[in-house]
Amino acid sequence: MSQQKTHVVIVGAGIYGMSTALWMLESGKYTVTMLDKCGILPAPDAASTDLNKIIRSSDYADPNLASLALEAVDFWRKPEWENTYHESGVMVLSAAGEKAGQEFVSKAEENSKNLGIAIESLKTTEQVKRTFDRRIPTGNFGGREGYLNPIGGWAESGRALEVGLKRVRKLGGEIRPGAEVNALVKNGKKVKGVQLKSGEQILGDLVLIAAGAWTPALCALPGVNARLPEVVATGQSVAIIQLTPEEHVQYSSVPVVFNLDDGWYVFPPNPEGLMKMAIHGAGVLNPQENGVSIPRTKLTPGGEDGAIPLANLKILRDGLRQVYPGLANKDFYSTRLCWYCDSVTGDWLIDYHPDFENLIIASGDSGHGFKFTPNIGREILKVIERNPSPEYAEKWGFNYTAKTIKREGSKAAVSDVSKEEPQTSEGGADVRAGKRQILKVEDLVKPHHLKAKSARL
Ligand SMILES: Cc1cc2nc3c(=O)[nH]c(=O)nc-3n(C[C@H](O)[C@H](O)[C@H](O)COP(=O)(O)OP(=O)(O)OC[C@H]3O[C@@H](n4cnc5c(N)ncnc54)[C@H](O)[C@@H]3O)c2cc1C
Repeated sequence: MSQQKTHVVIVGAGIYGMSTALWMLESGKYTVTMLDKCGILPAPDAASTDLNKIIRSSDYADPNLASLALEAVDFWRKPEWENTYHESGVMVLSAAGEKAGQEFVSKAEENSKNLGIAIESLKTTEQVKRTFDRRIPTGNFGGREGYLNPIGGWAESGRALEVGLKRVRKLGGEIRPGAEVNALVKNGKKVKGVQLKSGEQILGDLVLIAAGAWTPALCALPGVNARLPEVVATGQSVAIIQLTPEEHVQYSSVPVVFNLDDGWYVFPPNPEGLMKMAIHGAGVLNPQENGVSIPRTKLTPGGEDGAIPLANLKILRDGLRQVYPGLANKDFYSTRLCWYCDSVTGDWLIDYHPDFENLIIASGDSGHGFKFTPNIGREILKVIERNPSPEYAEKWGFNYTAKTIKREGSKAAVSDVSKEEPQTSEGGADVRAGKRQILKVEDLVKPHHLKAKSARL
């Protein structure tokens, strides 16, 4: 006798939603409708949609995340991800005096070794420099040390999301672009579905909210009214340079370089010779009238130019000078503010909402979720089936942040955007430097700042 399938409404077609849809459809037990507010998918301003993302294979201080990341690499290598993954290796560095960064790097190194990876320890600047082809001029790396992990690299993230959404459709999932959810359809504690801005209702047995950095704003809408633990949308600065064909060839063999102390990182050039760098930092907040930070993206009126804070543009160029001085005097090709949904500890929020019977939240990506695209959906599905992996059940739970704040009182109120609190994610999941600032339009770069000569003034 065939069993009735569970119908799931997924809000958000980023990697959290897409990966969950894939695992659900492949299990044969579910039907899925994915809704995304954006009219084009993958949504150009989703965190998941980007030139590239780092795929760290095991470079986590938390040993469980290290294993999960290494498992993800095995999946990335499979044909279904259509060569979107590039195994360049990842160089993980920290300055000796930066305690949090250095501790993270040494734990990550230990975890990588324990997982059997032949990592190369780099204990001096000379050793760091020697790993590069001699024809590539390298800087002093700010005196940083760390290790080179030959496993891992980067993924063409926008293309990978596209590949995943294509598979969702192939497996019979419905994907609806231009479907902005602004309310839940409730019957007491039971959530029967969602309501779109157009007024249309989409009903299902379960509702999964996977709306990335928009999750806090969505959950604060009167029609949703679902309290959340401390998660907040933070804007992170990204910049790109265009290499010449000669430079493209010259730099094609470099690994991803990632400073775990100040959060600066750079990719090898992508197939079009674009080299992206960014700061995994405290980020900026964009509070609305209700105090909840909401992404300001290229699709936000006024935000089309993707401008980032000018101070960060300088940090990005200085970082490039420390690593690849031969490229540090190039014009920037473009910039982007890309939005994390940050939790207090850097652990994700994947749990049933305690106030409702059949509402699940999968968010709080904290800027390091992409590498898990192939396997995060399996973990989300385990939570949905009330059989979470024991190593993550507490950390990804709705009450974990509150417990952490109680234990470590200083970490309170990070999502109170009226304050500019120091960034607090220091756990095994993540490490971050800097202090959150409120985004001010007058502080953002103007087109002339992208010119190299502007930096030299
Ligand atoms: C600058 C930057 C760099 C990063 N680098 C890395 C990296 O190197 N490695 C790594 O592992 N991770 C990285 N990450 C993190 C990674 O991108 C995220 O963890 C991941 O993409 C989050 O996916 P998501 O599905 O939660 O959110 P998103 O990809 O943002 O998707 C959310 C979707 O929800 C939709 N949505 C929002 N509100 C609604 C609504 N009301 N109704 C319907 N749809 C809605 C949006 O349109 C969007 O498509 C980075 C993130 C950023 C911003």
